[in-house]
Amino acid sequence: MKKHNFYAGPSILSPYTIQKTAEAIQDFSDMGLSILEISHRSKQFQAVMDEAVALTKELLHLPENYHVLFLGGGASLQFCMVPFNLLNKKAAYINTGTWATNAIKEAKLFGDVEVLASSEDTKFNYIPKNFTIPNDVDYFHFTSNNTIYGTEIRHDFDTEVPVVCDMSSDIFSREFDPTKYSLIYAGAQKNLAPSGVTIVIVKEDILGKVNREIPTMLDYRTHIKKGSMFNTPPVLPIYSALMTLRYYKEMGGVKAMEKLDMEKATLLYDEIDRNKLFTGTVAEEDRSIMNVCFVMKPDYAELEKDFMEFATSKGIVGIKGHRSVGGFRASLYNALPLDSVKVLVDAMKEFEAKH
Ligand SMILES: *Cc1c(COP(=O)(O)O)cnc(C)c1O
Repeated sequence: MKKHNFYAGPSILSPYTIQKTAEAIQDFSDMGLSILEISHRSKQFQAVMDEAVALTKELLHLPENYHVLFLGGGASLQFCMVPFNLLNKKAAYINTGTWATNAIKEAKLFGDVEVLASSEDTKFNYIPKNFTIPNDVDYFHFTSNNTIYGTEIRHDFDTEVPVVCDMSSDIFSREFDPTKYSLIYAGAQKNLAPSGVTIVIVKEDILGKVNREIPTMLDYRTHIKKGSMFNTPPVLPIYSALMTLRYYKEMGGVKAMEKLDMEKATLLYDEIDRNKLFTGTVAEEDRSIMNVCFVMKPDYAELEKDFMEFATSKGIVGIKGHRSVGGFRASLYNALPLDSVKVLVDAMKEFEAKH
């Protein structure tokens, strides 16, 4: 049976990405060798790295003075790399979920952290809006999409201070103005590639301003200087990322992905709002286009397990909500076809009719 993959991460990749990755594992770039068994310093792999950087810049409309890095360690390493490289005295964060909480914890190791706003008191079910970004901080950090709770900030911030953003779960799903950001990072396993690589986009002029020694591997300048090849990079995930980037370009770029993602999310949210059995878990104006969280209405709470089984029987996988929220979470990343959302919506309708 065809599976409809709603996993939150690692998650669905385009069939093109899977196909091309499989081919490169067999025979990479007509070398008669697998991509798994060649030097990352070969001209064939250098071409992969160069094109991945160039396509990222093209798809995100990055100006000249932005560097694109492909690093190991996951988005979680960026939680400490960011303050290591940027935090001298004080940084400002907003706390919109588990990942933001983790980022704040790491930053506190390096200096003062001012948490400008938090929605922790209501289980992160909305995006706090009443806060001002101070002018005396080294940077302002936020998480654009809260993968676990299903809320999203779909606008850029206007401020004097450098803006740092964790875009792990919504990069390439919406257009944004890159000039409003000084550093963006994103673990690949949500919307780009298998796990193992993290994209970091950084404006060079924010670096070199802290008064501490930075270990070589944790210093962004090392990786800028060496073109993400200071040490052996995650070769296979970078190759897969390139395939996804080519696919995004072919599909019409980020704008086209955004249109499709919007269509998918609207279809599912409309059904959640219409269906007598289900209800959304977050403030409507903050709903994520990538991760749609919903639960059974209290009167139907005992049907949760039955719906999960019913959905499974339709080939729907990965809709179990994160353990901290419960209920359901359908992740609608770029590679998920509209048809899969239709299958889920139809299953919700059919289940409703039975009860
Ligand atoms: C998944 C996720 C992370 C953690 O990524 P790792 O690569 O596993 O470290 C961080 N931030 C957000 C927003 C995420 O969705």
